[in-house]
Amino acid sequence: MGKYILALDEGTTSARAILFDRNGCIVDMVQREFPQIYPHPGWVEQDPMEIYASQYGVMMELIAKRSLTAADIHAIGITNQRETAIIWDKATGIPVYNAIVWQCRRTAPMCEEIKAEGLTDEIRRKTGLLIDAYFSATKIAWILDNVEGVRERAERGELCFGTVDTWLLWRLTDGAVHATDVSNASRTMLYDINRCDWDDELLARFGIPRSMMPKVEMSSHIYGYHTLNGTPIPISGIAGDQQAALFGQRCTHPGESKNTYGTGCFLLMHTGNTPRFSDNGLLTTMAATLDGQAPQYALEGSVFVGGAVIQWLRDALGLIRDAEDSEYFASKVSDTGGAYLVPAFTGLGAPHWDMYARGTLVGMTRATGRNQIVRAALESIAYQTNDILALMHEETGIPITTLNVDGGASANNLLMQMQADFSELTVRRPAVRESTALGAAYLAGLSTGFWTNEDLEKTAETDRIFTPELSDDARNAALSGWRRALRAVKAWSSFDETEEG
Ligand code: ADP
Repeated sequence: MGKYILALDEGTTSARAILFDRNGCIVDMVQREFPQIYPHPGWVEQDPMEIYASQYGVMMELIAKRSLTAADIHAIGITNQRETAIIWDKATGIPVYNAIVWQCRRTAPMCEEIKAEGLTDEIRRKTGLLIDAYFSATKIAWILDNVEGVRERAERGELCFGTVDTWLLWRLTDGAVHATDVSNASRTMLYDINRCDWDDELLARFGIPRSMMPKVEMSSHIYGYHTLNGTPIPISGIAGDQQAALFGQRCTHPGESKNTYGTGCFLLMHTGNTPRFSDNGLLTTMAATLDGQAPQYALEGSVFVGGAVIQWLRDALGLIRDAEDSEYFASKVSDTGGAYLVPAFTGLGAPHWDMYARGTLVGMTRATGRNQIVRAALESIAYQTNDILALMHEETGIPITTLNVDGGASANNLLMQMQADFSELTVRRPAVRESTALGAAYLAGLSTGFWTNEDLEKTAETDRIFTPELSDDARNAALSGWRRALRAVKAWSSFDETEEG
């Protein structure tokens, strides 16, 4: 039995190969960035061959660096940037167009048309998603409509569609396997998460032939084999990055939640084997599911500007030199002196939904300086996360008692303490912060008998626990100040020029 599980993590900007041992500890890792392509403002593409080459490259580099043989690698797990759409030729493996990346806004007008057709409720009910250009459906339709000859080839059954996991799997199995997992399928806006099948009506609406669609399997499943020096290694776990992180954080029961504090924040709450639908803009999505298990679901909410507000302090204001300095300056004062920063640079998401909102700093006095502003910025990350946590609780009735954290900004102890204080819950930071890759490794190791579920319970080591320390009065005052700041944002965004003067 091989000693290691190899996790392949194809993110939005870089590919990583990470080797995990039986204890779920990182043995070694190789990472490489790959190029982004911006053909027009708001458009984002990647070269599918670069995606594969970067992923294959880091995998081979890791194998060479550790002098591994195929016998050392028990199984391979894949996790990936979600929603990104790739179409390629079944016979040659050549992509018909670049990958259209999840961030790409080119299909926003198409989304407006679909909304105007009144499909919002149907799409939410079937797919759990809001109609948005992020998801794969309109990206696939765009390639079929705009790249010459592609629609005819698709209709002749010559083409395959895949999200990044599917593309990597197809390549790594030499074209033998065209499949995806439920968590990735649930981000396409074409997958009925209630019936666990592609939805023929939605496929027809977007003009996408069913023959292009990958087979959908559970996340922990032996999909196929990658042959290394003549020896087959099972590819036995796949999940989209956020769901992989949820699984890597061992959140597998209703109410168990994780927040990833990256550029933005991604908060997922497991809701067991029942999909819970939100009226306030949270997404319903499939959580990583094991072979033989009933389909698992999660609610997802995101904060557009999370760690990015710290980058803004650094790059636009020059208040700090490194992101980690934020903790030092914010700790020099015990509060912000009544100042609140709402980093609504690109509008506000759930539960506020205001695309016209803009960044706002309120409550300043002559005493407001760098320390207070840096502190207000950190607080804003915790407040925004708290708004989503509160919404999840309100909409499901499920209390969240522990929040598992990861991502770059989760290293900030002060921020984690703020989260525990504002949300009145326990914040748990795991020893292995690479939850995404760890989740993919767990999925791959479970389906091949490398680990049992009981083994995984033992591997989850904690780095630090943060418990609430703020009095009720202090918390209520803080949250009420934040709500007041949001009202100030609203006053700005909804200002009617005709009333001026
Ligand atoms: P992504 O995967 O979105 O690129 P990462 O998980 O690498 O993000 O986290 C990077 C983000 O976290 C950046 O926005 C950075 O400003 C923020 N960040 C990193 N370290 C800290 C810290 N110690 N305190 C606050 N923010 C931090």
